[in-house]
Order: sequence, then structure tokens, then C-alpha cells
Amino acid sequence: MKLYNTLTRKKEEFVPIKEKEVGIYVCGPTVYNYIHVGNARPMVVFDTLRRYFLYKGYKVNYVSNFTDIDDKIINKAKEEGKDYHDITDKYIKAYMEDSRDMNFYEENTIHPRATEYIDPMIDFVKGLEDKGAAYNVDGNVYFDVSKAKNYGKLSKKNVDDLKAGARIGISDEKQSPVDFALWKKRKEEWEPAWESPWGKGRPGWHLECSVMAKSILGETIDIHAGGEDLQFPHHENEIAQSETLTDKQFANYWLHNSMITVYNEKMSKSKGNFFLLRDIKQHYDLEVVRFWLLSVHYRNPINFSEEVMEQTKNGLERLYNGKKRLERLMEKAEARELSDEEKNISEKIDGYRNNFEKAMDDDLNTADAISAMYELVKYSNVELSEDNSREIIEKAYNTLMDLAKVIGILNRKDEEENLDEKVEKLIQDRQDARKNKDFALADKIRDELLEMGIVLKDTRDGVVWEIKK
Ligand SMILES: [Zn+2]
Repeated sequence: MKLYNTLTRKKEEFVPIKEKEVGIYVCGPTVYNYIHVGNARPMVVFDTLRRYFLYKGYKVNYVSNFTDIDDKIINKAKEEGKDYHDITDKYIKAYMEDSRDMNFYEENTIHPRATEYIDPMIDFVKGLEDKGAAYNVDGNVYFDVSKAKNYGKLSKKNVDDLKAGARIGISDEKQSPVDFALWKKRKEEWEPAWESPWGKGRPGWHLECSVMAKSILGETIDIHAGGEDLQFPHHENEIAQSETLTDKQFANYWLHNSMITVYNEKMSKSKGNFFLLRDIKQHYDLEVVRFWLLSVHYRNPINFSEEVMEQTKNGLERLYNGKKRLERLMEKAEARELSDEEKNISEKIDGYRNNFEKAMDDDLNTADAISAMYELVKYSNVELSEDNSREIIEKAYNTLMDLAKVIGILNRKDEEENLDEKVEKLIQDRQDARKNKDFALADKIRDELLEMGIVLKDTRDGVVWEIKK
């Protein structure tokens, strides 16, 4: 499997540290607000990467943190006159609800909160001080960037350029404008703060991620991931402090997803196009949002528009209809050995699975992988009927569902079970309408069923229905 490594700017064959095991750290949200679609993209993309590793038989150690102490949180708590815990608890709870609706694979996910790792954070800073790579100025501790080897290696930035471009006078206490805070002194009495060798204060954001990753996954991790906006300074600073402390490579692969545009404009708070998942949820099932986020390769920008969302919704319905049709065929078809023709069909089905895997192996090309799923459904709709053996229908169904599990879709339960009932009821209504000679109503119901992708056939045994091919 090849992954594009931001560190080398190349697609590289993925080689895990431990065989058939992978550790992934994804920078999670700062929990002072609801999740917007921009936050959701890395979550969906790297959740899908994790699912693909599981599909390939890997043990996956997946860490997605909550930044639960930060200026933004402290400010919000002050604004609302609340304890900061009330803010973070509320938005962590909301995150978990969105996570469920986005079908994130939570069974095995570790969600560390920064505030649970204050002691190892203090130890980490002490370690850097011992190495002469950190300095304390009146309770604020800074990382000395001149002590880092190859600073700028991830974002390809040059320290001298950064120094020249830095705004002067923002913080006179730093030895160099590129140095960054490891530990921040409490400014006011009411601010949340922890005891430390440098007085009461709290950790800096970059330190939080380095320490959580190291504490849970070890000094060198397989994959560190996040949005491309985190490359600099966040990830660059994580590398600088971690590698200066341990003298080891911090992460072997750095993965970054591209941005989201909304009606072809950059998302920004000032433009008011910062869509929250809970707002979108009023119009679209979050499964549609997930499917949309995977419809474009993760390193390309993706655009949100109503039109695109409608197309995505219809595409997802086509897959659901294909799934439903195979389920019905499985119930009707008889078990028997594969015919020669079915052996060919079986090979074709394997071909679609291979295409899916090939796309995913090529730097997680979910767009092409999804195309393979559409082709499988289209092929099944045309080639398979209840006259086929149950075995071959089952094979098509199991293949579709294996791939759907990787993409994280087609797991809607309630409606699935209700589709039969819903269709049967509409058919009954139509029969009644015809009996009452209300042909206009009967036609209207037929059209409604057609819109759902259901075709009716009048036979001698009554009306039968099937999913439109
Ligand atoms: Zn982070």
C-alpha cells in the first residue's frame, strides 16, 4: 500500500514498525464549539484509512485527541461565565453524537484529553530543559528552535525566512521570533492552571499532541495525520520538540488532507459559510456527508454545494437499492453449484474487489474505490436474478458489504427494514385507488414508487415489485 508522505513529498510503500500493526495519531478538535465540515474531513478520511488497515488484517491503534485546554476554551468559559469543564464536556458529548452519525469506527479509538496528560507534559518540558533546548522566562517556557535539527523539514520552510517574516515585538521575552511556547504562565487568577516547576500554568497546544502521541503510541509512531493547515506551525513544532527530546524520528509517515470550499469559496468564519455538521444534519443524513467527503481524493480540495450533495445522496441511494435487491434475490434464489456462466460472473466480481483494493492501495484513492462499488452494483443489477444460484448472489452481496464497510456506508438499519413495508403499503394504496377508479391517484403512487427506484409489474399472481435496474 502506497501513501503520500508529506515529509518526503512522495508516495511511499507503507512499512509498519511492527508487522501487521499500525499506530495512527490524528489531531482532534479543540472542544469549544460544534464540529464543522472542515473538522470532519480529516476525521472521515483517516477513519477510512483505519478501516482499510482493518480490512487488510492489521491491528490498528488509533488515537484522536481532544484539546480540552486552550485560549479559545478559556475565553469561551469566561464569556459564558462557566467553568471550562462545562464547555469541554458539552462539546465532547456533541462530538460523540456526530461521530456516531458519521459512522466513525469508535470501538477501538482512544480519545485522550490533554488535561489527563499534564504530568507527562511537565516531564517532557523538563527533559527539553535538561538538554538545553528549552528556557524559562518568568514562568513561560519556550522551545529553542536553534536546538532542533532540520527545523522546517516537514513544511519545507527555512528558519531564516521565518525569522525575517516574523512580526517584531509580539513577545519580547523569546530569544528568537521562531521559538514557541511549551508551557504558558497563568495570566489571571481565575484561569485554569496546574502546578509546575515554573509556577502555575498550562501546556501549549503543540506540546499536548507530542506528549499524547508519545505516551500512547511510543516515541516513534507509524502515521501522524491531520488537515494540511496543521503542517505549519503545529506539526513542524511537534517534530522539533519530540525529536529533540528523543533523538528518534517522531512519525514515519505524515499525512495531510486538503481543504473544503463552500460554493467554491474558502470556508471562513467571516464569510459565514462555516457549516456545522448539526446544521447540515437538518437537510442530509450524515452518511451522505461522509460519502461526499470520500468522493474526492483526500489530497484534492472538495467543494460543498447543494447540487453536489443531491448527487451524492442519489448515488448513495443507488448503492442502497443494489444492496436491497441482492438481499431479496438471496431470499428467493436456490442453493446450488455454480454454473460455468456463474463462474465467469464470480471472476468478474473478484475483479471489482481488486479494482477497489488497487485504488485504495494507491494513496487511499477513495474516489476510484467508490467507482468500483458502483460498477459492482450495476453489474449485479444486470447479470444477477433470482434464477441464479444463491451462492453467486451471496458472493456479490458479501463483496459489496465488505467494501461498504471500508468506506463506512450502507449500514442504515431502520429504513432498510422498513423499505419492504413501505413499498407494500404503497402498492396496497394503489390497488385500493384502482378499485375506487381513482386512476390519477394510482398513477401518482406509481410515480412515487418510481422515484424510490421501485418498478411495479402487473402479473397474473398480482403486483410484484423490483428495484429499478
Ligand atoms: Zn495536534
